[in-house]
Amino acid sequence: MSNRRTFAIISHPDAGKTTLTEKLLLQGGAIHLAGEVKARGAARRARSDWMKIEQQRGISVTSSVMTFQKDGIVFNLLDTPGHEDFSEDTYRTLTAVDSAIMVIDAAKGIEPQTRKLFEVCRMRSVPIITFVNKVDREGRSVFETLDEVADALALDVVPMSWPIGMGGVFQGVLDFASNTIARPEGDSREFLGRRDAPGEGAPVPDDIAEEIELAQAGYPEFDLTAYRHGDMTPVYFGSALKNFGVAELIDAIARFAPPPRPQSSEQGTIDPERADVTGFIFKVQANMDPQHRDRIAFMRMVSGTFKRGMKLTPSGLGKPIAVHSPILFFAQDREIADTAEAGDIIGIPNHGTLRVGDTLSERNDVRFTGLPNFAPEILRRVALKDPTKTKQLRKALDDLSEEGVIQVFYPEIGSQWIVGVVGQLQLDVLISRLEAEYKVEAVLEPSPFDTARWLKGTDAALRDFADFNKSNLAKDRDGDPVFMARSSWDVGYQQERNPELTFSATKER
Ligand code: GDP
Repeated sequence: MSNRRTFAIISHPDAGKTTLTEKLLLQGGAIHLAGEVKARGAARRARSDWMKIEQQRGISVTSSVMTFQKDGIVFNLLDTPGHEDFSEDTYRTLTAVDSAIMVIDAAKGIEPQTRKLFEVCRMRSVPIITFVNKVDREGRSVFETLDEVADALALDVVPMSWPIGMGGVFQGVLDFASNTIARPEGDSREFLGRRDAPGEGAPVPDDIAEEIELAQAGYPEFDLTAYRHGDMTPVYFGSALKNFGVAELIDAIARFAPPPRPQSSEQGTIDPERADVTGFIFKVQANMDPQHRDRIAFMRMVSGTFKRGMKLTPSGLGKPIAVHSPILFFAQDREIADTAEAGDIIGIPNHGTLRVGDTLSERNDVRFTGLPNFAPEILRRVALKDPTKTKQLRKALDDLSEEGVIQVFYPEIGSQWIVGVVGQLQLDVLISRLEAEYKVEAVLEPSPFDTARWLKGTDAALRDFADFNKSNLAKDRDGDPVFMARSSWDVGYQQERNPELTFSATKER
């Protein structure tokens, strides 16, 4: 059984993802190591390799994948950029993990970005552990939070712990599994390791004792199978800032979160136990310096044991490439720091040959399916400053959409192409790369459309639909039909009127 746990943290900005990440890495020893200079042999080579790459190429890769190790388990934590960096990369990262931690703010509950990211997890049946953060501050009632998660996300919830008061009256967190209360100590009121049995220390107030009794009778028992199917979420309460619930979370990932899962491919399901190396690219990071064409492709290992210098064949290319200077993400000194196995991520420097969605394999006999495109949330019309550059623009848009920077839609009527993104930053990247790499000056104008849906149905049904809706139809880069909607209301309306068509918010490649 694999000792890898590859996961991401999903949350709305400010819920505490960064703070929790730091605490997870601290407890796993990774931060200590990141600051350490005396590494030996292979580990030092691996680390200095990527530092050199970061310096030379101006690419920040170290925070994309964070690895720590505890009690024989190797945790790979993949960063899902939030805030202004929110982009399709954020979504795609979730295709490369086996499970996720959902962090919510005890006072705010489920917020929009959490919900969006959750939907992506649900689509791929990624199991979720919930962490209700900031219980050291005033929050909503615990029942209210649990109900909201259950209702908003249609999940069975199982409280695994319970805060003894919040805010000013916060007295610790009762962990149901060990039946101990983690206590705040000192001026900072942090958790420093003191755990009491329920009879010890400050007595649990009557109203909270009553809540706990109600909760233990009213919620189902934790069921590993239901969790792994993505039907049930265990809920932990804590405070990343004050260190409550962090150890319990690590423990929960180690014990419950699935090890590397099989992945579907055109050739059937590929098992992590398969001996030869297979993997897929879920993210490509370009150099911020436009003079350099260097990229780092992030590959999620699906099977096999990767060794430095190994030859792998990208599905898009057909001829093998030797991976001499991969970036291996290891936080700790390990003898086997020159290898990576199923569940691990490796960074492969390249000059644009590797694309998001590519499969890499030792024997060139696998092509993974299911790395999806996501319906864009921001659509813009592209207008050229110099109209003679149409050809260059088309090439650029095709290239950049293939790379996963943007999506492009070619309307059936009219000549103005539309680009779609899920985050604002992608638009800035688009404009600067058009100029720097393709010498195309363009401006982005408002589009009449608000969102897009991929259409599926019989040819006849599609033709009928097109007769009435030509001005709302476009083709994507692959020539597949897309409904350009003026609002999400429009999508619902058309779906209702055209039950023989499906309007999909994602497209599996
Ligand atoms: P992110 O945007 O999700 O990465 O959130 P951060 O980790 O940057 O946290 C946002 C703010 O909330 C910061 O000011 C943190 O110090 C604060 N914060 C995070 N966790 C806690 C917590 O458990 N309790 C309290 N009181 N504040 C917290």
